[in-house]
Amino acid sequence: MHEKEILVKVEHLSKHFKVGRKLTLKAVDNVSFNIYKGETFGVVGESGCGKTTCGRTVLGMYEATKGRVIYEDKDIHSFSKNEKFDFKKKAQYIFQDPYASLDPRMTIGDIIAEGMDTHFSMSEKDRTDRINELLGVVGLNKEHGARFPHELSGGQRQRVGIARSLAVEPEFIVCDEPISALDVSIQAQVVNLLNQLKREMGLTYMFISHDLSMVKHISDRIAVMYLGAVAELAKAEEIYENSLHPYTQALISAIPIPDPHVGRSRQRIRLEGEVPSPINTPPGCKFVNRCPKAMPKCHEIEPVLQEVKPEHYVACHLFD
Ligand code: SF4
Repeated sequence: MHEKEILVKVEHLSKHFKVGRKLTLKAVDNVSFNIYKGETFGVVGESGCGKTTCGRTVLGMYEATKGRVIYEDKDIHSFSKNEKFDFKKKAQYIFQDPYASLDPRMTIGDIIAEGMDTHFSMSEKDRTDRINELLGVVGLNKEHGARFPHELSGGQRQRVGIARSLAVEPEFIVCDEPISALDVSIQAQVVNLLNQLKREMGLTYMFISHDLSMVKHISDRIAVMYLGAVAELAKAEEIYENSLHPYTQALISAIPIPDPHVGRSRQRIRLEGEVPSPINTPPGCKFVNRCPKAMPKCHEIEPVLQEVKPEHYVACHLFD
């Protein structure tokens, strides 16, 4: 990427859910970042950190509680009905569990064509040709089009999920843990396919994962989320080689290294304490009860995400 053009601008985005009458779950809490055209923007964090809610709110699948998501100079949360319809064609979502997201009563061909049927008017022949073309693009053959989801393997079903997203010729895809439900042997194939499609079609991805070691291989930049907020954001190599936030450092120290010499020399940082509940979080840093470097002010003042090196952002009082 030479000239960086912003495709999605997320500004102070929050998504809170009411739990009962008095409690609030802050799934996403005041998050800001840009996604550049043509990049893969990785979002990583433990289960419950808000990454899926963030991806869905960025796509308008959830209403934002606060903040804005600017796409082509307009906040997607203030789109008219027609604008929402157009945006659904430009921006797609690939689900974690391909089986749960495919209607078991529909053939694979009809599943792939769902978006096409909504957005394009095509002759029956063009529709069939396009389904066959998309099956080929994702490495399936046209016989698969007549089958039902239960007749396919997990990897094949995820390929159908990808073909369904591509059918409307999107520019931006939120990939929500697209390989975590697949066998390890199939994961690399699906990652390679996503990379290849990105190159060939000029796509932009927001790639959500709990697995930092995997996100590294696919992402240009990575945002590390903890309890609904971005703890650190930088280029993928920078996150791996020069992480600054104590939480990111702990996540990286837990990644197994295949080389036993390097593996022995690296110390694993063990995090004490449990991930706190995102319901009515106390003031101060969200990571304070597990942080080995916590200071008194960390209990009182919430750190804000700030640029501490060019294009390297961190939310931690150690860098104030
Ligand atoms: Fe740790 Fe304090 Fe930094 Fe939070 S702000 S990560 S508690 S040092």
